[in-house]
Amino acid sequence: MRMSQLFTKTRKTAPADEVAKNAQLLIRAGYIHKEMAGAYDFLPLGLRVVENIKQIVREEMNAIGGNEFIMTTLQRKEVWEKTDRWDDKKVDVWFKTHLQNGQELGLGWSHEEPITEMMTNHISSYKDLPAYAYQFQNKMRNELRAKSGIMRGREFIMKDLYSYSVDQESHEAFYQASIEAYHRVFERLGIGDITFFTLADGGAFTKFSHEFQTICDAGEDIVFLDRKKKIAVNEEVMQDDVLSEHGLNRDELEEVKTAEVGNIFSFGTTKSEQLGLHFTDENGEQKPVVLGSYGIGVTRVMGVIAEIMADDNGLVWSEEIAPYKVHLVRIGDDKEVVEVADKLYAELEESGVEVLYDDRNERVGTMLADVDLIGIPKRIVISSKSLEAGGAEVKLRTEPASIIVPLGELVKV
Ligand code: ATP
Ligand code: MG
Repeated sequence: MRMSQLFTKTRKTAPADEVAKNAQLLIRAGYIHKEMAGAYDFLPLGLRVVENIKQIVREEMNAIGGNEFIMTTLQRKEVWEKTDRWDDKKVDVWFKTHLQNGQELGLGWSHEEPITEMMTNHISSYKDLPAYAYQFQNKMRNELRAKSGIMRGREFIMKDLYSYSVDQESHEAFYQASIEAYHRVFERLGIGDITFFTLADGGAFTKFSHEFQTICDAGEDIVFLDRKKKIAVNEEVMQDDVLSEHGLNRDELEEVKTAEVGNIFSFGTTKSEQLGLHFTDENGEQKPVVLGSYGIGVTRVMGVIAEIMADDNGLVWSEEIAPYKVHLVRIGDDKEVVEVADKLYAELEESGVEVLYDDRNERVGTMLADVDLIGIPKRIVISSKSLEAGGAEVKLRTEPASIIVPLGELVKV
């Protein structure tokens, strides 16, 4: 991508009403646009990061048997009435609307109910089970407060997977596989070391749910962490009996601020019974299906990573999720410099390296400041000076010093 063709611009300041660091940086670097509190547009650079995160999640969900699909945002009131979750007193984040004929609709804040009802068309026998379905979907939640940038949106992208199993035992085997898949996801996203499996409230369905909590000062949760055992307890379930049940000692736990990046949940058979999802087992007996649900906040993860990896000069992306792998900067419009830089850009692209090419004729300081703000892992500068020194100046975003690399060796680095 040539920057002269990229419609977004960087800016020196973020909107005055934007208080979250992740959104300030992402707005300044041209990744997102703030439409209003809690609602952001994802611009070309931002969309590439979202897609890279999604791809990692997708690969790991496919590896445990997930089938990708996508559901509509529009939801029927009747479906949610069956489980008593239509009422605003039961679910306080509903956005609701209505058809021209007056019929009420909900905008999906979650999809457990509609997908479970939809599954009655596809599951009727033990031969149809297990079934694992997931989507990347824009969830709509009328959050009371939306001051955390893309870490808490009123519209945000979630990966939600739903598991349908014949019995509790096979449900638990998949639940375990999903925990391992989640660890792989966060590892690949570069936050494996600071993301912890966490005991959390299980609501009406199960004793505990399990969260994945990433250490982050801008997070809204507090957990008590056992670093050695790599397990945390959400403050909402911090009780003596919980600690002893899990062999944890209060004195060894560290209180940390975190952001919930994932949440997995066992529903048992309650919802299936309410929504009429049954199957016939091997003996011809009718049984309710065992349901689990597994979320990852895709755009929240992006916000968390933006927030915690950034330095004073701007964003810092890892190789895995960066919008481009190389930021090629051409300084000046000297004929030789232009030729060399254009050729290098073409060669890198041909060899499959994703390059953002700054071919604008801006001031050097402006271009280099933009490189730091945008946060692509590797910077390659071509200038008369670098050519005189024998090639291109190469610098990693996370390193202070640059080195001169001969032109012929650049495509390999
Ligand atoms: P929270 O406790 O932060 O409000 P939640 O428990 O309501 O989250 P879930 O319904 O379990 O969240 O959603 C699954 C995942 O979606 C969460 O683990 C989180 O990563 C993400 N998520 C939830 N709400 C938002 C939001 N408003 N904006 C961005 N991501 C969100
Ligand atoms: Mg939660």
